[in-house]
Amino acid sequence: MEFLRPATWDEALAAKAEHPTALPISGGTDVMVEMNFDVHRPSAILDLNRITELTEWTADGDAVRLGAAVPYARIIEELSGPLPGLALAAHTVGSPQIRNRGSVGGNLGAASPAGDSHPALLAAGRDVFVEAHSVRGVRLVPIDEFYVGVKRNSLEPDELIRAVRIPVADGPQQFSKIGTRNAMVIAVCAFGFALHPKDGTVGTGIGSAAPTPRRAVEAEEYLRGVLAGRGLWESGELLGPEVVQRFGELVKAAASPIDDVRGTADYRRHALAVMARRTLTWCWNDYRKQIRSAA
Ligand SMILES: Cc1cc2nc3c(=O)[nH]c(=O)nc-3n(C[C@H](O)[C@H](O)[C@H](O)COP(=O)(O)OP(=O)(O)OC[C@H]3O[C@@H](n4cnc5c(N)ncnc54)[C@H](O)[C@@H]3O)c2cc1C
Repeated sequence: MEFLRPATWDEALAAKAEHPTALPISGGTDVMVEMNFDVHRPSAILDLNRITELTEWTADGDAVRLGAAVPYARIIEELSGPLPGLALAAHTVGSPQIRNRGSVGGNLGAASPAGDSHPALLAAGRDVFVEAHSVRGVRLVPIDEFYVGVKRNSLEPDELIRAVRIPVADGPQQFSKIGTRNAMVIAVCAFGFALHPKDGTVGTGIGSAAPTPRRAVEAEEYLRGVLAGRGLWESGELLGPEVVQRFGELVKAAASPIDDVRGTADYRRHALAVMARRTLTWCWNDYRKQIRSAA
């Protein structure tokens, strides 16, 4: 097995173009497990750990450009203000060791439907883009076009993830995850939710309850209509139990889960409705507090 160790991003892109089957390794928390279990025997490994830009993030006011290899521990520590949903999701990943090595770029590379960053990225808004770089140039892939199948993403064989562009939160965001224990657990199912008062939309992300991470589009549209139609963004009045209930039902209907070792499809649907109701209620309560204190 060849071991490629580029020192710069350009060298990494050239190496990927020359060896399209080379498996990139960043934190290695997925790659090493799969190699140990003989899931992969790649002809070459492309180690990205010398490329410091991948571990950096920048913010321009409206969006954060999160380097592919920024570890979860730093997202929690440094980005819980601008990216609260992603930081909450990062909190639930593995253990401190895994959070010190694992990254959103690696989560996207693995594209597991159970990856915890996906529901938070989907909920963060329409303007979340994965930067896919190659020697041919840069593609900005909208997040909901990135996931194309079970553990498959839309990267071309010569492409690498450089960063993810995520809008800075303009309203409350939440993430909820159900597992068979409290820590070091792959999600039975997960849900990300965000309020976007600036453009009057809401964001959702379903994890581990469909072949790919996905949004609950009808639930988003329903809630957007209620919030606008009843003037709730301005009044900050309570949503009412029928709205919360209906939102939960629509989230549940958007899932297409399977029975597996972690849980049944029925349980996943039920749990998603519960998480959707809870995260909506938490976020709406926070939003009400924000507009009252601003008045
Ligand atoms: C004990 C344990 C617990 C875990 N718990 C969780 C959990 O709770 N939630 C969760 O979501 N995950 C969990 N994971 C899985 C893993 O930690 C995450 O998926 C993590 O985000 C992977 O990041 P990484 O940097 O280690 O990726 P790596 O293992 O280095 O790579 C993962 C995949 O992404 C590809 N890749 C990496 N970087 C790039 C890039 N820049 N461009 C293109 N492709 C790239 C790799 O080729 C590989 O296919 C756990 C893993 C372990 C071992």
